[in-house]
Amino acid sequence: MARKPMMAGNWKMNNTIPEAVVLTQEISNRLKYEWEKVDVVLCVPYTALKPVLTVLEYDKVEAKVASQNVFWEEKGAFTGEVSVGMIKGVGCKYSVVGHSERREMFGETDETVNKKAKALVAAGLGAIVCVGESLEVRDAGTTLDFVCAQVKAAFAGLSVPEAQKCVVAYEPVWAIGTGRTATPEQAEEVCAAIRAALAAQFDAATAEGMRILYGGSMNPGNVDMLLAQEDIDGGLVGGASLEAPSFVQLVQACLK
Ligand code: PEP
Repeated sequence: MARKPMMAGNWKMNNTIPEAVVLTQEISNRLKYEWEKVDVVLCVPYTALKPVLTVLEYDKVEAKVASQNVFWEEKGAFTGEVSVGMIKGVGCKYSVVGHSERREMFGETDETVNKKAKALVAAGLGAIVCVGESLEVRDAGTTLDFVCAQVKAAFAGLSVPEAQKCVVAYEPVWAIGTGRTATPEQAEEVCAAIRAALAAQFDAATAEGMRILYGGSMNPGNVDMLLAQEDIDGGLVGGASLEAPSFVQLVQACLK
């Protein structure tokens, strides 16, 4: 089944509003009409969501904007948190959930990832669900079981139409920001296992239609080999998304 590729840039905690506006303008100037054939998603800090969207709207570039995190409660005494309704109101189509940096540094668990995914799909948004193993897990030889368990937990209780709104990002923790990329074969092995896990949880057709991204030091030099893999439908990219030329090269790689 032909799946529309997705290239998502995860800016992490980078770019003030002026910097975000400049970077978005640079991306938009280079994008031409690629965004019709690839879903381009900019996962930007909360403060930059509206400015980034304003630039994209002004330039009539249909790239999508996502938050990097979200809270599952609707409103109330949750100081520092931002709700699904709030990001939806700004114009986000997705939020990243369960990024390994949030799992490692901010106590994100499979349970909270599931709550966030449920809250997003209930509001008609999509979750970009991050999963991935540490080096210890890989060395122990339990990567496939570990990652598939993360997927199962993240999607627990979602209906087929809800799951179809979501994207899975396979990001081996040892490859994020380290310059060490999984080989195409390593990445494909896990992405194929993720698709099989989705088929078991939902059904084969649903799993075939869902996009699975690879993330972990993806760059213009390794993107082609990664995207050539049957079960890799795009990328979630950190470092290489912070410069317009490299990010747009990654977007263009989805069209080859
Ligand atoms: C990420 O932040 O999700 C990521 C994959 O980062 P990097 O591309 O820098 O490894």
